[in-house]
Amino acid sequence: MSWSENYIPVPETGCWLWLGKWDVSGYGKLGGNVGSIQASREFYKLHRGPIAPGMFVCHKCDTPACVNPEHLFLGDQAANLQDMKLKGRGRKAAGVQNSNARLGEAQVLEILGDRRSARLVAMDYGICMQSVYAIRHGLTWNSLTKIACSWKASSREKPTCAT
Ligand SMILES: [Zn+2]
Repeated sequence: MSWSENYIPVPETGCWLWLGKWDVSGYGKLGGNVGSIQASREFYKLHRGPIAPGMFVCHKCDTPACVNPEHLFLGDQAANLQDMKLKGRGRKAAGVQNSNARLGEAQVLEILGDRRSARLVAMDYGICMQSVYAIRHGLTWNSLTKIACSWKASSREKPTCAT
């Protein structure tokens, strides 16, 4: 599979979630260990055209892992920093780096590809339905860790979350 097909569309948001490696901020990346190429930059160039020197690819959808060219726009460094600041990024690493994260990268991707109802998926993974919705809406793991689940996998009750 070529890198240009290495994503999964999220029907609810229209985001294309990158399935390759992610950097610590949750941005999709391409390439080897030395240096990393931001996947969203490559998708932008492929679908929209060249990126002028000094310009950054920003996300309208607030989903760093999204590579849908329709959700990307160009900004200068100031816009990019402002974008990251507004969205609470730049300070924190994404959930997979966070020891409190409940789900691993592989599980998040499995949940994304799971076509069953949120309730069934939540019960399978022992997480709350809000977490399933959050994943399907392309939110980062940081958001997931903020959702405290009162529901236990062993309980027969409907999964609910303490907020
Ligand atoms: Zn998007």
